[in-house]
Amino acid sequence: MSEPRRLAGRGPADALREAALDRLDDCRAAGVDPSLATVLVSDDPADRAFMDRKHDLCSEVGIDSRRVDLPPDAPAERVYRTVADLGADPAVTALFVQIPLPDHVDESEVRRRVPPEKDVDCFHPENVGRLVAGDPRVRPVTSRAVDRLLDAHDVTVAGRDAVVVGRGTAIGVPLAHLCCRRDATVTVCHSRTRDLAERTRAADLLVTAAGTPGLIDGSMVSPGVVVVDVSVNRVDGGVVGDVDAESVGERAAAVTPVPGGVGPLTMACLLDNVVRVSAAGAGVEVGGQSG
Ligand code: NAP
Repeated sequence: MSEPRRLAGRGPADALREAALDRLDDCRAAGVDPSLATVLVSDDPADRAFMDRKHDLCSEVGIDSRRVDLPPDAPAERVYRTVADLGADPAVTALFVQIPLPDHVDESEVRRRVPPEKDVDCFHPENVGRLVAGDPRVRPVTSRAVDRLLDAHDVTVAGRDAVVVGRGTAIGVPLAHLCCRRDATVTVCHSRTRDLAERTRAADLLVTAAGTPGLIDGSMVSPGVVVVDVSVNRVDGGVVGDVDAESVGERAAAVTPVPGGVGPLTMACLLDNVVRVSAAGAGVEVGGQSG
């Protein structure tokens, strides 16, 4: 088979970033200055690096941002209080909490403390409910990024047999919902799936978000499959996805590169969500499509 089409994210990410900056101008013209606060409960260098990128992005475009990094053994009550205090601060217009959280911290308690109107990643249960009910206030950044990536490259989703590997609440579940909303027939796989290869070979759209390098190789995909590799796994100083790019590339019709695929669009979607949520929270209308 010939080389697969490369579903690059940088071009569409640049376009979305420009649109987000226009919306930021509208927002500021209306007297609203977005301000993002983030909470991380981890000392993992990879988690910290992801968080660095979010704050670098804000500083690149002149958005004020505040960062609270807590150690992984921070008492649960301290985590809940930190999120609640940031949520209640009128200077904070957008709030992001990085998951996974340590085991002793109840994720549901944290979700409930993010004010729905400041939630930039569809984290509060009310926003999750609205998303599933088809009336989203805010869409999860990573699935929004995949949505845009597929559109930017004219990938048809309707009618496909989509297999999503990963059922994490922040990534896998919203991706499965996205594929379903776009009229694919969806199978969700996870660590208890009995025969993963049998499932993935049945896919003509394969979306991976397992966080496991080399999980999917060429023997596990069918010729002509479109592969969206969402995972960002740090190995030996580099970054790889879940998919063995070489062997899968020999059979796939199209693949997202890692890095340079979903990642750049995720950052652009985060920026856009920060602007949109900040504007909406202040009752300001900003232009552009809702996608
Ligand atoms: P997560 O919550 O840990 O979820 C991982 C999922 O993968 C779980 O559902 C797990 O199954 C499943 N899984 C793990 N090993 C598996 C295996 N061998 N076979 C089948 N399923 C397996 O992780 P996450 O937060 O969703 O993140 C997933 C990946 O996305 C990570 O690499 C992360 O870095 C990346 N990410 C990318 C972006 C981006 O912009 N591209 C943004 C955020 C995160 P169980 O549920 O059974 O445990």
